[in-house]
Amino acid sequence: TRTPVNVTVTGAAGQIGYALLFRIASGHLLGADVPVKLRLLEIPQGLKAAEGTAMELEDCAFPLLQGIDISDDPNVAFDGANVALLVGARPRTKGMERGDLLEANGGIFKPQGKAINDHAADDIKVLVVGNPANTNALIAQAAAPDVPRERFTAMTRLDHNRAISQLAAKTGAPVSEIKKLTIWGNHSATQYPDIFHATVAGKNAAEIVNDEKWLAENFIPTVAKRGAAIIEARGASSAASAANAAIDHVHTWVNGTADGDWTSMGIPSDGSYGVPEGLISSFPVTTKDGRYEIVQGLEVNDFSRERINASVKELEEEREAVRALGLL
Ligand code: NDP
Repeated sequence: TRTPVNVTVTGAAGQIGYALLFRIASGHLLGADVPVKLRLLEIPQGLKAAEGTAMELEDCAFPLLQGIDISDDPNVAFDGANVALLVGARPRTKGMERGDLLEANGGIFKPQGKAINDHAADDIKVLVVGNPANTNALIAQAAAPDVPRERFTAMTRLDHNRAISQLAAKTGAPVSEIKKLTIWGNHSATQYPDIFHATVAGKNAAEIVNDEKWLAENFIPTVAKRGAAIIEARGASSAASAANAAIDHVHTWVNGTADGDWTSMGIPSDGSYGVPEGLISSFPVTTKDGRYEIVQGLEVNDFSRERINASVKELEEEREAVRALGLL
């Protein structure tokens, strides 16, 4: 029998945690033949609710679930972690400045990065979901100097999936026919969903759509503002689709992209496409055997360049702000 994979989830008692844990335990994160142990991290006020979720997980009698540990100590929760999903974060409250938000998240992601550094397994893979995800990933990475930098990633897969869905609706194609879509930049309102290299049933998506006005005024803002539209409609944020995207992100990272397709991940830049080295920015990537590679050689037109630069500029400003706070 296989050794179970330790999966640590922070903010386990939150909305996303509730939608995420059952799918991890049922085999959707790593595969239907991979046993898992869950390690849940919560703040002290969240522990009781996390225990309730653990009771429900037990009641599902998932054959792959080999144990659940709950802690409010990152040193315990990240002990032996092979995969870490950093979901819990400090939400932006009314009147909160970006500096305050980054500082509050520094207080969460710095000690978590240190705990990952000191206690996680050698093959640790980290996905940051909690916002501002790209910069929180940078903070955790900086606190984990012994972990290879490329193991820290930020989630833009929900944006990627939203963009696929919008493009499918526009073209009338099923989502399975949409390939090579790219999210560039920050997981924020400045993100740039790029269809210029995407294909719809094997044909170039931008040529099929042939409508730059729709791209600029409809598609891009619809994808970027989808989270707010869901809050407006549901009265609560997009927890199930965010959890689904986290599952997709890790599953693709571990199990690989299909031939002729790629995905989008927030990853440390190596300077490709003019994105300053070290920024955690979204790129088109292919994955294989647990590793990812940026898709090289794509032509970036003026329409795309302007938007990538704007999002990257925002990431640079966030990096400057956390550097000024002494978090890097
Ligand atoms: P959610 O589970 O709904 O969201 C958690 C984080 O995910 C937020 O930062 C949220 O950002 C982010 N996020 C990213 N993408 C999305 C998306 N598409 N839709 C919604 N959220 C998204 O938050 P809850 O408040 O329900 O739960 C948070 C839990 O985390 C609480 O139980 C809290 O106790 C815990 N927590 C744990 C910590 C720890 O383990 N050390 C530290 C801090 C909190 P945004 O704010 O932008 O919506």
